[in-house]
Amino acid sequence: MTASKTMQVEDKCTPLFFRKIPVSIERGAGVQVWDEAGNRYIDFTSGWGVTCLGHAHPVISDALLEQSGKIIQNPSSGLTYSPARARLLSLMCEILPVPLTRIFFSNSGAEANDAVIKLARKATGRMDVIAMNQGFHGRTISTASATGQNKHREKFNPLMPNYRFIPYDNLEALSGALDKNVAAVILEPVQGEGGVIIPSEGYLKEMSRLCKANSTLLIIDEIQTGFCRTGPMFAISPLNIEADFMTMAKGIAGGFPFGAFAMSEAVSMLLEPGDHGGTYCGNPLGCAVAYAVIKYLLDHNISANVMKTGDYALDRMHQLMMSYPEKIMEVRGRGLLLAIEFCDVETANHVVGKCLNRRLFVTQTQGTIIRIFPALNIKREEMDEGLTLFEAAVDDAIKRIS
Ligand code: PLP
Repeated sequence: MTASKTMQVEDKCTPLFFRKIPVSIERGAGVQVWDEAGNRYIDFTSGWGVTCLGHAHPVISDALLEQSGKIIQNPSSGLTYSPARARLLSLMCEILPVPLTRIFFSNSGAEANDAVIKLARKATGRMDVIAMNQGFHGRTISTASATGQNKHREKFNPLMPNYRFIPYDNLEALSGALDKNVAAVILEPVQGEGGVIIPSEGYLKEMSRLCKANSTLLIIDEIQTGFCRTGPMFAISPLNIEADFMTMAKGIAGGFPFGAFAMSEAVSMLLEPGDHGGTYCGNPLGCAVAYAVIKYLLDHNISANVMKTGDYALDRMHQLMMSYPEKIMEVRGRGLLLAIEFCDVETANHVVGKCLNRRLFVTQTQGTIIRIFPALNIKREEMDEGLTLFEAAVDDAIKRIS
């Protein structure tokens, strides 16, 4: 197919949910992708924070090939056990923060969040859920209800009842909102879609204490931050906080559609057969890929690369900010979840356009914020190449406007 034919078919046959740029990607390798005409691009989006080992990593294609030659489907909610699933479960038990020991697999992040909200209500016998302004938890009806961004909510009202919103990083608001009707609090340890918002030190720990004191379950959404995206295996790993549920997806299987939720033994004891399931949940193909990806992250100490390359990138972004203090409001990030906040949407729009002209993909969140979240095994020279393109794009965009 030619690129123009591809675009014609997609434009004609899919709903107009997303505005696309006129580029049709055929293949990738690491942080690079190529369009149908053979042009090379640098992908600083990692397929929306998913391809943690880069595009077309052999560890993923090998796992897919090997497992698909054995068996693809035999779900967690089916009749029989699966060695591929057991192998992944054992590995996940080694990396999950205490006290999360019971794991169930899903097919996406929203599906994992949807399930834990449902199960938190069952486990506590309470109905209310507290979520955060600017938080993002998915696009199903219950996860859109837990999402604190109007653009994902207002067109679909009325959403699910019993959701309340409070400001993120605000313990006073939380303590005022907790009462005997609150089943769960759901939040991201760093708000990703909200614009890479990092809470103050001690916030998550105190939040967990307040939830416990109110017998409210704490749901940590690590869908964007998990699997070394911010450095450690999970953003909460070094914080010594006890979540009741944790949800995962995106990086878990490096691009293969897969997700998971984990819960404590204590919560698991409050649930019973029939409470949850799904035709494809825990399918051996996804389990084999997730196992290969997580093992690779551990064996190759990808966490160290994330910290080192992330710090380096943030340094360069700080220098860029100092060159344009009147246009760049802030740069921030953890590991390889980085953001540059511009003073106005017009500048951010121009920068994204100039990046595309230079064949660099970046994502824009909340209008003024550009997020950079490349593959976690990105090499220093690849980061340099992408950042040099980004800096030139900023330069160009700002000069054009002023
Ligand atoms: N939660 C967070 C924090 C996310 O960033 C996302 C996706 O961006 C989701 C949930 C939804 O995941 P999925 O798109 O796999 O349904």
